[in-house]
Amino acid sequence: MHIRPLGLSVSQQDRRWLWNRFSDLDQIVKGLLPLPALDESRQEAGTEIKDYMFLYFPELRPAVAPVRGKPLSPVWRYGEKVRRADGTTGFRCFSCHRVFWSSGVNRLRVHLEGGSAHQGSCPAVLPCTLESLARIPRA
Ligand SMILES: [Zn+2]
Repeated sequence: MHIRPLGLSVSQQDRRWLWNRFSDLDQIVKGLLPLPALDESRQEAGTEIKDYMFLYFPELRPAVAPVRGKPLSPVWRYGEKVRRADGTTGFRCFSCHRVFWSSGVNRLRVHLEGGSAHQGSCPAVLPCTLESLARIPRA
């Protein structure tokens, strides 16, 4: 066998470092250590990875509760509502990750389909996204 167990293939010093990371992770999972603070670029990368997962693997997205008894439009599969501290609402496009401070699922749809005078077009939408979007009837 050419594959050696991880513990044998790293130096004594690296093994100690690795062991400490597992130990930290264990403490975080148990709630004994806080999650490390992430800088802005890491938070952004995390959001983009999440957007990608929700867009291309929608079964991984947690169910979104109906709003005032109305089920959510299926167009929300391609983006997410966001809210500022002052209460302003908008959406983030899962394809290009941009945030638009105008609410309404039709704005998201217009953005994905090529934009309008008031709504910029999506620079990152893929043909497969447009094909599945076209199958959703307009409200
Ligand atoms: Zn977009």
